[in-house]
Amino acid sequence: MSVRCGIGYDLHRLAEGRILIIGGIELPFDKGPVGHSDGDVVAHAMCDALLGAAGLGDIGTHFPDTDPKWKGANSLKFLEHVRKLLDEKRFSIEHVDAVVILERPKLGPHFPKMREALAKSLGVAQEKIHLKAKTNEGVDAVGRGEAVASHVVATLSR
Ligand code: MG
Repeated sequence: MSVRCGIGYDLHRLAEGRILIIGGIELPFDKGPVGHSDGDVVAHAMCDALLGAAGLGDIGTHFPDTDPKWKGANSLKFLEHVRKLLDEKRFSIEHVDAVVILERPKLGPHFPKMREALAKSLGVAQEKIHLKAKTNEGVDAVGRGEAVASHVVATLSR
């Protein structure tokens, strides 16, 4: 058996009048990510980590933001598609570990629902998805509440 790791990162600006979607669920807040799709940083970083581990390029290759098909897209669909690509190459998802960096709102209480949504889209047990939240200590754009970012490491086996 071979084991491979991939890393993913994403950041979206936050603006008023957008719906805050993180980890596949909608959170009550007065700002949300600006993006061609729903701007879900966790789903996007997760796609990149999984694609990277499999050597299958990145999210921009598979879901270009110039394609009207992905305008306003639910990013869980991206994860479902990535899972299919992994299946075609016979990769299994061993573990996915994510960090979300956001000043407000508090994310911890929403983690069970996020894990449920992400695990369902990837077709894995919830135990394989791990989520952590950080603030940016008031520093830089994320710290000023102007953006949300996420880092993800994915481990695959074959
Ligand atoms: Mg993105």
